[in-house]
Amino acid sequence: MVKAAAAPQILTVSDLGKYLESKFGYDMFADAPPIDVDHIASLLGIDVVESPTFNGTTAGSIDDDTVGLITLGKQGTATVWINPRQNSYEPRRRFTLAHEIGHFCLHRVDGRLEFVDDKSTMSRSESYWTRHESEANSFAADLLMPTKLVNAEGRPIIDAYKKDNDTTTMPLDRFVAQMAPRFHVSTMAMEYRVKNMLGKR
Ligand SMILES: [Zn+2]
Repeated sequence: MVKAAAAPQILTVSDLGKYLESKFGYDMFADAPPIDVDHIASLLGIDVVESPTFNGTTAGSIDDDTVGLITLGKQGTATVWINPRQNSYEPRRRFTLAHEIGHFCLHRVDGRLEFVDDKSTMSRSESYWTRHESEANSFAADLLMPTKLVNAEGRPIIDAYKKDNDTTTMPLDRFVAQMAPRFHVSTMAMEYRVKNMLGKR
C-alpha cells in the first residue's frame, strides 16, 4: 500500500481544517456536529487499533489504567491504541482519539516518539502543568467542539429556550444537556468548553 506523504505539523484545529480541505477536499465542519474524528484520523494516516491488549512496542509502561497511546514513526506514520476497557463510553472514546490526534498534529517535531495516556494525562485539571498533555487536551476540546460550531448550534437553542420560557437567560446545565449529545461529547466536556468560551469573550 502506498502511504501518503506525512502531514505537516499542524498547530491549531483551524489549520487542521484548512489542511484537510486543501489536501483531501474534505470539509470537516460541513456535516458536523458531530466531528468525524475517525475519518480525520484515517485521512491523517493514523492507524487506530482497539484490540484488548496493545501488541506494539512502547518504552512506557502500559497497564489496565492506560486509556490510550500514540506511537509516532520517524517517517510520519502513527499508531493509536485505544484501550477498549477504558473507552466503552462513546464520548470518552472520541475524546481519547481527539487527544491522540492532538499529539499527532502538535508534537511530532518534539523528538518524543510516543505518548502514553491515563486518566491523569487526559484530565484537564491534572494535566495543567504538563505542557504536551494540556496542549493535547485543549486541541481535543477544540476539535470536538469547534468555537464556530458551538456558536452556530448554540444560538438557536438559547433563542428557543428564551422564547418558550419567556426569560432572558438559559441555565448552563440545561444548555449543556442539549448541546453535549449533538457533539457526541460528555456533558462534563461540554460544560468545561462552554465555560472556557464564555471566559474568553
Ligand atoms: Zn496525551
